[in-house]
Amino acid sequence: MRLKYYGTGAAEGIPGLFCDCDVCNYARAHRGKDIRTRSQAAIDDKLLIDFPPDTYMHVLYGGLNLSKIHSCIVTHNHSDHLYPADIEMRRNGFAYPEVDSPLTFYCSPKTSEGIKEMLQKYELEKQNRVLCEVIEPYRPYNIEGYTVIALEANHDQRCEPYFYIISDGKSSMVYGNDTGYFPDRAWEYLENNKIVFSYVSLDCTAMDLKGWRNHHMSLDVCAEVKERLVSIGCADKNTIWCIHHFSHNGLLNHSKLEEAAASYGFLVSYDGMEVEF
Ligand SMILES: [Zn+2]
Ligand SMILES: [Zn+2]
Ligand SMILES: [Zn+2]
Repeated sequence: MRLKYYGTGAAEGIPGLFCDCDVCNYARAHRGKDIRTRSQAAIDDKLLIDFPPDTYMHVLYGGLNLSKIHSCIVTHNHSDHLYPADIEMRRNGFAYPEVDSPLTFYCSPKTSEGIKEMLQKYELEKQNRVLCEVIEPYRPYNIEGYTVIALEANHDQRCEPYFYIISDGKSSMVYGNDTGYFPDRAWEYLENNKIVFSYVSLDCTAMDLKGWRNHHMSLDVCAEVKERLVSIGCADKNTIWCIHHFSHNGLLNHSKLEEAAASYGFLVSYDGMEVEF
């Protein structure tokens, strides 16, 4: 599988839309890997993960070609992961898709509400342009030839947040933004199913601050997740570990974060990063 991170920032992005803090000013001056748009990724440019307000920016500058993508799994409905307004742009006259097949969003019941509102308002389902399918946690779904399993996230429970296991039959990965230390039910599933992950991408909103374990994580807590995944047999010496979804509140620029992450054995994602496993 090839994973590409199009965006690696938290809700406000780095630099934050309206922010004048040191991290944001450093990013403005140095640009490059210090600029972080809102989180989005794709697998083999076939399976999209999340639909943030920076999706259009990823189309403009990141090489994302949405006319070729027909499936998007959504973690939850916070605005940095789901920006329903742009879904309208797939309606008749606004888009001439290459193939007459719809874009389908997959998500939890609560997250589906905002998508379904758009589908109804602009008759997107009727036009066969956009569909939305609710998926249940802990059940494997075949999406674009991948096995996708949603796990419940430790995050704002009002949006029934998920994080995902994705497998292509050869390798498996965890994609987990916007989750604190995994909830018991997720651990139970992992322990009972013993999938060995080639790649694990964890929320590290708080960077190298200490003890963030609810809603989001810091590096020390990501290290606890890593240790537990290894101890239950879900990871081995070949597993690649990476952190993503960063906020300026973590107070580090990219290179300082790389130094901190290396000491825990994690790579640090950046906008445009591609990895194959
Ligand atoms: Zn987020
Ligand atoms: Zn800032
Ligand atoms: Zn969130």
